[in-house]
Formats: sequence, structure tokens, C-alpha cells
Amino acid sequence: MTVYLVGAGPGDADLVTVRGARRITEADVIVHDRLVERSVLELARRDAEFIDVGKEPGRFTSQSMINDLLVSLGRRFDTVVRLKGGDPFVFGRGGEEMMALRDAGVASEVVPGVTSAFAGPLAAGIPVTHRGLSRGVTVVTGHVEGHDDGYFRRLANPDLSLVVLMGVSARASIASQLIEGGLSSDTPVCVIESAWTPRESVTRAVLRDLGSLNVSSPAIIVIGACAALSVRELMAETSSLV
Ligand code: SAH
Repeated sequence: MTVYLVGAGPGDADLVTVRGARRITEADVIVHDRLVERSVLELARRDAEFIDVGKEPGRFTSQSMINDLLVSLGRRFDTVVRLKGGDPFVFGRGGEEMMALRDAGVASEVVPGVTSAFAGPLAAGIPVTHRGLSRGVTVVTGHVEGHDDGYFRRLANPDLSLVVLMGVSARASIASQLIEGGLSSDTPVCVIESAWTPRESVTRAVLRDLGSLNVSSPAIIVIGACAALSVRELMAETSSLV
């Protein structure tokens, strides 16, 4: 009689929190997105029921259908796990799902997850707040409903790292807006596709070339001086200090 909103982390099952893994193991029903890796689903009981609400044409296409499904499952089963990629409250619409459950009088609880916003850059060896290079991070969606509102022009700031989720299809527009906003076209960029999965791929470039990179979703785009750092570089830096 409780719906748990569980963060599945960015990929590998061993990046699920211990609490999240426990909830998955206890679940009678698991409602998951397409981004959730098979290895995470394999943590569940063999007799658990799985419902894929990934944006498949014709099935659970709207958020309200997902909300209604969670409410009805929450009334029927002891333990329902709503499994979401990364962290449930980072662009996962987890807040809306919790509100719908609350309005229907169904108990819910949230279990944090490792978000791809930070684990993605880390997969490429990028410390997004490297001292001296970045004073902070802006995490933003690249997905805009309807018309392009020029929002990225206002995000041009050489002192901050920019981490863009859902930004692959708008990457050319994002790059040109940032350059119009005053960011150098030589600003380092790194695109991490399917971080922490067997399909992981890392592409480095500079901002002016972001639009023409051959990359596909799901991916994290990191823009800023830190994006030039890599594990190899960090190790070289450390050993030169010794
Ligand atoms: N709640 C999720 C984000 C959901 S939005 C989280 O905290 O990570 C979906 C977007 O997340 C994707 O379009 C992509 O930009 C990013 N994403 C999620 N998992 C990813 C992964 N393993 N590698 C790269 N990007 C990922």
C-alpha cells in the first residue's frame, strides 16, 4: 500500500543506493522507464510484475496516465516501486507523481538516486567544480516545449560549468545561443552518451563544433573549462605534485 519512487542511478545496478536496491527486491510491481538498465530490473524478485511506461507510442504516453496507473497499483499492491533513471526528482517528474499519489490518498516515499547530471561528467573524468576553473554548476534541460525561447543566451557564464540533460537534439541551437550570449566558441565541450552502461561513449570538442557532433540520446552535455579535464589529465596533475 506504498508507492516508492526509487532512483535507479545512471546505469549499472551497483550504482543503485542500498535502500533503493532493498525496495526493488521487495516490490510486487515495478513501473519503470526505458532508461532503466536491465541489470537494475534484475534486482527484482522473479515473480514481480514489470510495467514499462517508457514513451512507447500508444501506451502510457501521457504523464496523467502514469499518475493514474500508480494510484491504482498503489491501492492494489503492498509494495509498488516506481523506478526512474538517475534521481527521481531531477527532471524525472517524480514530484508530480508524488502529488498525484498524495491527492489520491496513497502513501508514497522517495529514495534518492545517483543523478546522471553528476555521474555523467564523472564517467568522463570531469570534476564539474574543479577549483580555479569553475565556481559552480548549472544543471538545465535542453528540451524546450514549442518555440526556441533563447534561454541559453542568458546561461553564458565562463565561471560556471553547464550540464545539459536532454540536450542532444537542440545542441546546435544551444551552442549558438551560448556564443551569442558571450561564451567563447573555443569553450571546451564534452558529450557523454549512455554513461555507466556498456554503451558508454565520450566525445570531446569545443563549443563551435557541438552542433555537428555525431551523438545521440541519452547523453549529458558538459560545457565549460572543466569539460577539457579527463581522468588521464587528473592523474598526470596529481603525479606532478608528488
Ligand atoms: N532523473 C534522471 C534524468 C531524467 S531526464 C537523472 O537524474 O539522471 C533524461 C535525460 O537524462 C536524458 O535525456 C539524458 O540527458 C540524461 N541521462 C540519464 N541517464 C543517462 C546516462 N546513463 N548517460 C547519459 N545521460 C543520461
